[in-house]
Amino acid sequence: MPDIHNFTSKHFTIQKLDDGIYAAIAIDGGHAVCNAGLVDMGGQLLVFDTFVSPQAAQDLKRFITDHYGQIPIMVVNSHYHNDHIWGNQVFAPEASVISSTRTYELIGTSGMEEFNWYSANSAQQLETLRRQYQDTQDENQRKQLVLIIGEYEGILQALPHLSVCLPNITFDGRLEIRGKLHTAELSSYSEAHSGSDTVLYLPHKKIVFMSDLLFVGFHPYLADGDPYMLLKALRDLSLLNATFYVPGHGPVGSLEDVKLLIKYIEACIDTAQGLVQSGQVSQEYIQQMQVPETFAGLQLPQFYRTNINFLCKHLSSPQGNL
Ligand SMILES: [Zn+2]
Repeated sequence: MPDIHNFTSKHFTIQKLDDGIYAAIAIDGGHAVCNAGLVDMGGQLLVFDTFVSPQAAQDLKRFITDHYGQIPIMVVNSHYHNDHIWGNQVFAPEASVISSTRTYELIGTSGMEEFNWYSANSAQQLETLRRQYQDTQDENQRKQLVLIIGEYEGILQALPHLSVCLPNITFDGRLEIRGKLHTAELSSYSEAHSGSDTVLYLPHKKIVFMSDLLFVGFHPYLADGDPYMLLKALRDLSLLNATFYVPGHGPVGSLEDVKLLIKYIEACIDTAQGLVQSGQVSQEYIQQMQVPETFAGLQLPQFYRTNINFLCKHLSSPQGNL
């Protein structure tokens, strides 16, 4: 059995949720950036998401092989964003990489654009971020910068040997994986956080790995999905009344965290609707907006303005619900 107390990584901590079920929670400033999951299906190991870098994924593989004496044979990619899939190469080709069909397509298109962008811009970005860190004395700002600096350091270290590894098993809508110990239910949601987002639910234990459909302690990133579809997905998933909701970013959460995120999105939609209706929408106006008191403690506050800006555009578009 895994002894999580003897395991250390600078990229993530391991939290046991139940027998054979673990959450790997990213450490601020490390090279994991997103959270991952590990499920012992009953002699067969499944990994949910693989971090932003092979070096963080390598640590997860070390934990797994040290404690189980075997390697995972299944990897699930929740969605195409680089911070969830760039560790794939550490587990493939021994492991099958599973995703929704849409996520597979997006990794090959938008995901490759992302790879090319980071290849071209990461060194420059890191230099700028380090300068910003030196130029500010604001502790809170420094804390946020540490997160992003860690991400770019991890990416730059990985890039020389990084390859975008495509899933080799795809599904549409829903897939059940039946092990001796657990059945893992994969469900994909369209246009919620990204073009397609898969959650993994273990019904007997009432544990759900939400990936980026849930952020805990962080502002969510709304700008690559449809806020109404995300609200619908969150309301559906709240009905599971799960014991643990494992987010894509932040500590392991509960139903209360899902409800708080629903409130956040509703509040952002209200704010954006007000701005659009009053004709006050301008980049300058949005850039000076403050995060409302209720959400002031969340990390990555810059996402708030990104979200409002996106929602204003979304609500003004023909498919917006204004
Ligand atoms: Zn994402």
